[in-house]
Amino acid sequence: MHGSVPNVASVVEGSLYQSKSGRSSPVYNPATGEQIASVALCSSQEVAKAVAAAVSAQEAWGETPAAERARLMFRLRDLLEDQTEQLALTISREHGKTHGDALGEVARGIEPIVFACGIAHALKGEHSTNVARQVDTHTLRQPVGVCAGITPFNFPVMVPLWMLANALACGNSFILKPSERDPSASLLLFELIERAGFPKGVFSVVQGDKEAVDALLTHEDVQAISFVGSTPIAEYVYTTGCAHGKRVQALGGAKNHMVVMPDANLEKVCDALMGSAYGAAGERCMAISVAMPVGDAVADALVAKLAERVKQIRIAPSTDAQAEMGPLITKQHREKVLGYIESGIDEGAELVVDGRNFRLAEHENGYFLGGCLFDRVSPSMRIYREEIFGPVLVVVRAASLEEAVSLTNGHELGNGVAIFTRDGGVARNFARRIKIGMVGVNVPIPVPVGFHSFGGWKRSLFGSHGIYGEETVHFYTKLKTVTTRWDEGQQGAEFNFPKA
Ligand code: NAD
Repeated sequence: MHGSVPNVASVVEGSLYQSKSGRSSPVYNPATGEQIASVALCSSQEVAKAVAAAVSAQEAWGETPAAERARLMFRLRDLLEDQTEQLALTISREHGKTHGDALGEVARGIEPIVFACGIAHALKGEHSTNVARQVDTHTLRQPVGVCAGITPFNFPVMVPLWMLANALACGNSFILKPSERDPSASLLLFELIERAGFPKGVFSVVQGDKEAVDALLTHEDVQAISFVGSTPIAEYVYTTGCAHGKRVQALGGAKNHMVVMPDANLEKVCDALMGSAYGAAGERCMAISVAMPVGDAVADALVAKLAERVKQIRIAPSTDAQAEMGPLITKQHREKVLGYIESGIDEGAELVVDGRNFRLAEHENGYFLGGCLFDRVSPSMRIYREEIFGPVLVVVRAASLEEAVSLTNGHELGNGVAIFTRDGGVARNFARRIKIGMVGVNVPIPVPVGFHSFGGWKRSLFGSHGIYGEETVHFYTKLKTVTTRWDEGQQGAEFNFPKA
């Protein structure tokens, strides 16, 4: 216990474990600003203990037939569905997002678990007969060993499920290092994984900060690292993990544009922008944070419509069933977002809606911020170049579709993008030319379903694999190719390089 608040445990050797490092981090209810828990941060020695347990559990798990592993995945899927309400309440309590949004997070986290239920099919190898006389070749995909996942605060259930689904189904053990800002959901996931019947030690949780992350990145028995978080940390995790001989996929930040063509239905565009820019208080890697109307006529009409609606967003704690937007995650993050708003004003952007003075009665210490809307933002401004991760939408006016494409392609981040138009040819051409990993046509948050894959381009993803679907079957397995000859009559040494 830390003061009078509960301590959030880790999971080591298949059981709850309280770190003895002596270091801890406070966990807050962002709607009230109250400290509601404390999380003990694992030391590198404690991480090493979790890795040792993961190594010993993995051997038998990797030899378990894929269909048997899938049976446990089916049970896990059922338990997740049964416990959706509980998971959503846990998410909202520490993250602050609305209840409906948290339910959506859980649903999108279950999708890759459903994919993993069919893992036996995804692990099938290839076979070629008679590649040379009496010689056959077949392939197998074997687990890499111990995998670790380092996750961000904004999806404390969905992102861990994205990772652990195929990591476990492919026969690896998996160590989760959740965000220290909302760590409790990881323990609920452990409880369900345990109830589903997964063997002890194949899933562990190390609560922690940089020390725990560094211990995972440098431990010789960790073979693969999946990371989701901000771009600077993603780059650090990628370079450090690779330098220590690991496979790394590191997904980073975003600055997702929505290009609005003059022929688009503006009512639908406004609906789409309200949800995708201000939902979850803008704390989504697939949030639209830049609206890019093409031409001044559509820009003027769009800004006028949006301004009215942004002022009316119902901002409330997750306990309010009508809430449309909740608070930001921490006081520090709120201050960072306020700093961006100041910089936008200083650099000459027009703050059309200013949410800085928003206060919620009886929640004065919560980390709420009203929705903000900037117009006439230019590409050199910080509020355009950098990810704000708050309820701040910037409007950059483009003179033509060409300019919109060129600005979007020139941005260093490349997670998601959307175009709103009624012209199929324009949309198709845009989708092919745009240098972004996930594209929406009249869809504002194009998060692919769990049997496709998720991942950005440019500095939004370091590594070469998306984070679920078939992509991670490849990431979490090693390909082995076996060439076989059953030719009892063959004799004599062959010194030349073998030809078919
Ligand atoms: P973050 O980068 O601060 O933290 C992510 C993880 O890294 C956490 O587990 C944290 O403990 C750890 N970490 C933080 N600092 C570290 C350091 N110096 N060394 C080692 N580890 C460190 O990100 P966040 O604030 O938790 O999450 C928000 C960010 O995540 C945003 O940038 C958002 O765009 C991004 N994100 C990206 C995706 C995606 O799929 N591309 C999805 C969700 C969130």
